Amino acid sequence: MDVTVTQEMLARYNKPGPRYTSYPTVPVWRDDFGEADYRAALADVAAAPADALSVYVHLPFCAERCAYCGCNATVTRRAEVVDAYLDRVERELAMVTPLLGGRRRVVQLHWGGGTPNFLNYAQMQRLVSLLHGAFAIDSCGEISLEADPRIGTVEQIHQMRELGFNRISLGVQDIDPQVQRAIGRVQPFSQTETLYSACREAGFASVNLDLVYGLPYQTAEGFSNTLAAIIGLGPDRVACFSYAHVPWVKPNQKQVDVTGMPDTWSKFNLFRSAIAQFTAAGYDWVGMDHFAQRDDELAVAARNLRLHRNFMGYTTRPASHMVAFGMSSIGELADCFVQNEHHLGRYQKTVDNGRLPVVKGLRLTDDDKLRRMVITHLMCNLELPFDLTRPAYGLPLDEVLGEGLERLAAYESEGFVEVQPRRIVVTPLGRFFVRNLAMELDAHLGKTSEKQIFSKTV
Ligand code: SF4
Repeated sequence: MDVTVTQEMLARYNKPGPRYTSYPTVPVWRDDFGEADYRAALADVAAAPADALSVYVHLPFCAERCAYCGCNATVTRRAEVVDAYLDRVERELAMVTPLLGGRRRVVQLHWGGGTPNFLNYAQMQRLVSLLHGAFAIDSCGEISLEADPRIGTVEQIHQMRELGFNRISLGVQDIDPQVQRAIGRVQPFSQTETLYSACREAGFASVNLDLVYGLPYQTAEGFSNTLAAIIGLGPDRVACFSYAHVPWVKPNQKQVDVTGMPDTWSKFNLFRSAIAQFTAAGYDWVGMDHFAQRDDELAVAARNLRLHRNFMGYTTRPASHMVAFGMSSIGELADCFVQNEHHLGRYQKTVDNGRLPVVKGLRLTDDDKLRRMVITHLMCNLELPFDLTRPAYGLPLDEVLGEGLERLAAYESEGFVEVQPRRIVVTPLGRFFVRNLAMELDAHLGKTSEKQIFSKTV
């Protein structure tokens, strides 16, 4: 891609901002959104029985804590801790599913973590059977989980397929041993290769690998070797995340050796090398930081401007509502965001007391709903059609966005957007700064302490 980004330009636009996995973003959500609000949202979903659901289950356990980790993870080596947690997930399911009006159809199921494959086979079987009892899970839907190759086995991969999982995401980050040591996650490439091959043998319809750029000791040459090795495996999709070093939010990151950290310009060029190598190898750059084989449905959806995103990631099949279970999980249903208690003990105690463990959330206003639609479409499909809001709300875009639309259009002078008669298009240059563009449409920004909470563009 022949696009020139200068260091001066990067310095000007590399500022803290949301990644817009939700709009309004999490800092805007309210602590006074409680159980009664969640029950009301579930009742709204129950009133629309034909709507399909997505279901997310958070499984927070890991054998050890990686220094760079930004997830909500709980370190344990004891299976009984997991059993006790599954008891609570079972109770939470038993409380929530009647409020949804019965056994609802699910088209997307995802287990995230933590490390979902920390569960042993009996625990996985138990959770699968609980979920099948609670929901009518579409066997043709996306049934996915995240897995850590360091603790996975070939046998376990086959067991997951037998349990009905058809998509899997393996964590890699970088294959360079020096980088792995610096981030406290040593994972020989042979381990990744073995598990990846097992996924192929077992017949997973889609295999994703996760990489991270901006880690200590990542160099142009070393990261290029990582990219070549990953391309050599041939995954369907690759997520290439920017490392956000925020030790004031994630104290475990204080263990990361920052002396070896690439500066902003080097980090940006690591990502550019990912774009160059993946696109040369037949992948499309999808969304902000994903790559998908050109014939993968994600790449096809992006080309057809119908890519969507929710808390589980990019998707081609957005369900009307996402219901989430487990500590710290986030649901998005009936125009509400709902987050569960993020502390394991408090989550379990609340469920034991027969209460839904919601601790914060937000019921979206009409303005929020419109902006959510616009920002999601812009971030996923890199355009803003002027009639985007009409099918849903019957309102023209300028009425919805007001001055935000003018501020967005003004980026034409910078070469970030092109204003066309029927839409604003993000240019290949502007794509690197799409978060900055979306921030112009965010009605809540500036009312929270972004520097504390958000990472930078690069
Ligand atoms: S990076 Fe993954 S495996 Fe490591 S501690 Fe975090 S959730 Fe667990």
